[in-house]
Amino acid sequence: MSKISIIKRVCIHIRTSVKFLLLLIIGCIFISGIVGFVYKPIYSVTFQGEHIGYIEDKSKLQKRINDYMKNGEGDLVAFVDIEELPTYTMCMLKKGIVTSDEEIFNKIKETGVPYYRYYAITESNEEKFYVATQEEAQKAIDQLKEKNSTNKDKLGIIEKYETELKEFATADTIVSELYEKPVVVARTPIYASSTNLSGRRIDLGISLTTPVKGVITSRFGYRGSGLHTGLDIGGKTGTTIVAAAAGTVTNTSYTSGYGNMVTISHGRGIVTCYAHCNSILVSVGDTVYQGQPIATVGSTGNSSGPHLHLEIRANGIAQNPQNYLY
Ligand SMILES: [Zn+2]
Repeated sequence: MSKISIIKRVCIHIRTSVKFLLLLIIGCIFISGIVGFVYKPIYSVTFQGEHIGYIEDKSKLQKRINDYMKNGEGDLVAFVDIEELPTYTMCMLKKGIVTSDEEIFNKIKETGVPYYRYYAITESNEEKFYVATQEEAQKAIDQLKEKNSTNKDKLGIIEKYETELKEFATADTIVSELYEKPVVVARTPIYASSTNLSGRRIDLGISLTTPVKGVITSRFGYRGSGLHTGLDIGGKTGTTIVAAAAGTVTNTSYTSGYGNMVTISHGRGIVTCYAHCNSILVSVGDTVYQGQPIATVGSTGNSSGPHLHLEIRANGIAQNPQNYLY
């Protein structure tokens, strides 16, 4: 066979193949045209092993489900738990098949478990009340702290995620229910009895400064009317009284005898008391420095005129202030 006739044969063969291929392509286009005219691609949705309908737009449904899981419906829903998600199978169905997006979504939604977010107010880690918002919870706690409720340090807030809602209380109800009045510590008066008086000078271990300048109107010891456990210094009403030494205010009180009185503890059992004050300038627990204004001269309680009744006590025993001052 000549080279030319081989080439001819190959050419004829290629031509036949191309023709056949063209026919095949045209045929395919024609068939898919008919199919496209009658059928359309659609998703069959299966959920919990059951066919629940058809949808055209898979991503739209998925987005709707995702949004529902993330936010739920209603203010209190934190999220929705859906255990199983639907599966999609693509298929060709005759045009005119009714899609059922809404129905499918509702079927999936029905299986969702909403988790509610709310807040518990706790006392000693025990849940006592529930409120809808963190602001409401904080409001209740703040009010209880402001009122100095005894349990203020045992209160707390817990964020709750639950499938069940609790009955909510208002901040006002919580405050009135949880409020505990501060207990007033009853103090045993350490004053005046004939056995706890000392005229002897002892070493107090601290040096004292004059609380107020003025004229001595009554001295320490047995006076005509009985026992006098302090020193009286006359002064104008409103004159500043200062702390005789640095210390801690352990008592401020009003009694019918002493009137307004401030007691300062200086440590090692040494205490000074300032009685019949017009006003008190310090509070229990305050740390005061030597010379700090603590009260003003007055005539409250059993007093015949404005003066300071000053007491110095060592382990409860009244000392003569004039051993140290004036
Ligand atoms: Zn006195």
